[in-house]
Amino acid sequence: MRVMKFGGTSVGSADRMKEVAKLVLDGKTNIVVLSAMAGTTNNLVEIANYLYKNNNDGANEIISQMERKYNSEVDALYATTDYKDKGRELVRNHFDYIKSFTKDVFTVFEEKTILAQGELLSTGMFNFYLQECGIKSELLPALDYMRIDKNNEPDTSYIRENLTRILEETGKKDIYITQGYICRNAFGEIDNLQRGGSDYSASLIGAAIDAEEIQIWTDIDGMHNNDPRYVENTKSIAELSFDEAAELAYFGAKILHPTSVLPAKLANIPVRLLNTMDPKAPGTRISGTETKGRITAVAAKDGITSIRIKSGRMLLAYGFLRKVFEIFESYKTPIDMVTTSEVGVSVTIDNNRHLDDIIDDLKKFGTVDVETDQVIICVVGDLIKQHKGYANRIFDALKEVPLHMISYGGSDHNISLVVAADYKKEALKALSAKLF
Ligand code: ADP
Ligand code: ASP
Ligand code: MG
Repeated sequence: MRVMKFGGTSVGSADRMKEVAKLVLDGKTNIVVLSAMAGTTNNLVEIANYLYKNNNDGANEIISQMERKYNSEVDALYATTDYKDKGRELVRNHFDYIKSFTKDVFTVFEEKTILAQGELLSTGMFNFYLQECGIKSELLPALDYMRIDKNNEPDTSYIRENLTRILEETGKKDIYITQGYICRNAFGEIDNLQRGGSDYSASLIGAAIDAEEIQIWTDIDGMHNNDPRYVENTKSIAELSFDEAAELAYFGAKILHPTSVLPAKLANIPVRLLNTMDPKAPGTRISGTETKGRITAVAAKDGITSIRIKSGRMLLAYGFLRKVFEIFESYKTPIDMVTTSEVGVSVTIDNNRHLDDIIDDLKKFGTVDVETDQVIICVVGDLIKQHKGYANRIFDALKEVPLHMISYGGSDHNISLVVAADYKKEALKALSAKLF
């Protein structure tokens, strides 16, 4: 079996859904994972924000706009009155449910339930469309098998057991449809795998069923060697290793959700990034094979804060780094990058929720400098230490860009640099010009 995941743009309209139907009906048995239609999850977030503020009018206005849009997509999607009615009923049910949250207290539980409606709608509509076309398709409810544990990590044995059971109970069908992004948490409540998490759903499903391949269909022909939103003339990369793909996804290549590579890597299932707008394009194949001797790609991660702790007593003081790291641990704040010198240590974080408390605690150990609005620029490739000259090319490209931190040697395929956000575009362009 193969897993085929389609993102928001790929299912963003009735016409796009019809194109997706052609792609998934290729004579093989596929599990199709769908995101919500483009814009939907953002709209649902807005609705939730209004409801937190008890602004029912604000929420109702967006709900009405969305319902109108969904009804017009339903009319365009189905050919028969029978299915147009079914589609409209589906839309009405979901929006009535969303409206019911305007009447009561609103907490994070209700928010997550609202956020789940986008994927439930897109998969419901698509399933009806296939059935109208005479295809034996079956919905696999993600809320019945996709689950995270109390640390918000996927409960892989639960997922495998329950998905296998549901597939067995369902029996042989032409095609299976399921929701990306949504899941239940350790308490059985509706939850999600974070924004962009449908990619993660696809790889967790792929690993759970030992899929022969995981396909991520989106609006571009695979992983490019730089961020196409900031740099012109970027090129698609034909082959990537799991490690390279994971670094690029983690450091800002939006085409892949940061955590989505690991399940595929652990199960050694190839991942292909493909373009719904240009299905014949070869895209990118991600596998265990490493391509030697090249700089592969550049990516940038936004929203970085750098923190420097300077201490006269750091030299020869064993335990200093441990104490510093323990502070971040106690606030459950992961550190992205670390650089050290004899008198201090600099780290970066991408989550400022506990920044003030962290700074307060760090001040016990030394002087603390904080800079927000930073980005990590990450160069990925076969950068093993035996090779000469890579660092030189990178620094040469960035000679006009002030560099705040530099990290190399943490892995064989990553050099990371911190620059102020204002320099992000310039840095990405300069690197493309010199490296590719
Ligand atoms: P989907 O909705 O299908 O999940 P996303 O918007 O999450 O799609 O991801 C696709 C987008 O990722 C592309 O349209 C592109 O603008 C952006 N992107 C950022 N960096 C890269 C990169 N290195 N290669 C390809 N796409 C990238
Ligand atoms: N619909 C969700 C989002 O917009 C998940 C996804 O598209 O991957 O974040
Ligand atoms: Mg995405």
